[in-house]
Amino acid sequence: MRLTVVGCSGSMPGADSPASCYLIEDDGVRIVLDLGPGSAGALQRYAALETIDAILLSHLHADHCLDACSFVVWHRYAERSSGPVALYGPAGTMQRLGAAYEQPASDLGDVFDFHALSSDDHERPSSSSAAPQALTIMNAGVEIGGLRLSFVRTNHPVETYAVRVEAGTTSLTYSADTGICPELVRLAKGTNLLLCEAARPENEPGYPPGLHLTGGQAGEHAAAAGVGKLLLTHIPPWVDADAQLAAARNAFAATELAMAGMSYDL
Ligand SMILES: [Zn+2]
Repeated sequence: MRLTVVGCSGSMPGADSPASCYLIEDDGVRIVLDLGPGSAGALQRYAALETIDAILLSHLHADHCLDACSFVVWHRYAERSSGPVALYGPAGTMQRLGAAYEQPASDLGDVFDFHALSSDDHERPSSSSAAPQALTIMNAGVEIGGLRLSFVRTNHPVETYAVRVEAGTTSLTYSADTGICPELVRLAKGTNLLLCEAARPENEPGYPPGLHLTGGQAGEHAAAAGVGKLLLTHIPPWVDADAQLAAARNAFAATELAMAGMSYDL
């Protein structure tokens, strides 16, 4: 499995990176985690858009989803698309993209084959074919080629999903956006690489809870989950990345900063 950091700037694009976007490739399968502002352009350095098998939007904050709109014009006018691309995200994703693109969600069906992730992760898997599709996806996970994806809700003001991607015995876990989150620790148990946000400055009293992690908290999550390596991401342009890194390393030594354009083979 290969991870390429297409964009890792937190909350908005930065001078050196688009906003959140990560390309995962394994045995000819390509999936994209988030499509923040600026990322649809940079993504084309690493993969032709027609080779993307699926897009996952962790949540509908603008810095994680708005470049999905670029797939609309590409799909309709580049004459390279062979059909709708699979799109996974929270309920309301199509309405969000439709609003951004000034089209009814129902008009985007030629571009996206949408699958809603359920917000209910406490139900047991159902064997009934009549079960709601979203519930089935959330509990049973998603298989895309040889990749298996599983999800948990995170601690963030809107419906947000962390995802674990597995190929055989290799795995990667992406935190999406979150405050302190025991469910993320559970999802990331023993994962080879934890791609974890650290958007919250280390020393900022009054910062709202349930929004983002400090570097130190990201390190603590990595240590608790027993991951192989921690990659800090989603650090906003105005936050001191070196301070976030130092704090994370105090809790978990095997930590690096994500950088746009870097690839990691797992
Ligand atoms: Zn967010």
